[in-house]
Amino acid sequence: MEPYFRPVADLHTHTLASPHAYSTLTENATAAAALGMVAIACTDHGPKTGDGMHPWHFSNMKILPDRIAGLRHLRGIEVNVCDFKGSLDLNETRLKDMEIVIASMHGGTMPYGTPEQITEAWLAVAENPLVDIIGHCGTPEFAAHYEAIIPAFGRGGKVVEINEGTFRVRRHSLENCARIAQLCKQHEVRVVVNSDAHYHEQVGQLGNAIALLAEAEFPQELIINSSRERFEEFLKEKQLVL
Ligand SMILES: [Zn+2]
Ligand SMILES: [Zn+2]
Repeated sequence: MEPYFRPVADLHTHTLASPHAYSTLTENATAAAALGMVAIACTDHGPKTGDGMHPWHFSNMKILPDRIAGLRHLRGIEVNVCDFKGSLDLNETRLKDMEIVIASMHGGTMPYGTPEQITEAWLAVAENPLVDIIGHCGTPEFAAHYEAIIPAFGRGGKVVEINEGTFRVRRHSLENCARIAQLCKQHEVRVVVNSDAHYHEQVGQLGNAIALLAEAEFPQELIINSSRERFEEFLKEKQLVL
């Protein structure tokens, strides 16, 4: 059966710069190229994660080429949301140099709070112009009032991630993910499917995330990596090119 769509980019991948991931940037890019993708973002963890990157990891990404393994390589970070005010763990100057900024909440870097406190944090992130993508926000440990945050992400121009890694390691989030997809559809908020690969064979493998969107009959025009044209449109907004 034909898939609902063929994703053209994977914007959430980790490299062995993170001790808990196992492939190089080149291996990841080569895996994406083999799938016919046009872009990959390398998005290792912000400094506050237990094994997060030193800030120099991000500032030195300027030495990397725009093209690796024949596809567009986007310099990125999975930055940590660190408190209920929505503070991030990389400073503004360095974040400005990143081409893809995913903001996520992780145990150990973000305090557990009430749904009201987590909502407050996400509402602040929604207004932060340095953030592009909201990472795996369905995690029940960080449950929020989705009816409030999803439209706010839309107003702030954020793209909500449907994370394939959730099907591997956060299966208890899936009910929330389906609800988030429905709310994004209802409020016309854009989404992206990402692998959150920690090994190159996971790069671009997005079958479960795609199936979740197909199940929701999610409009393809709201999925930024569902075609080359839509992805280029998203890059253009950020004054980037393929
Ligand atoms: Zn994450
Ligand atoms: Zn990740």
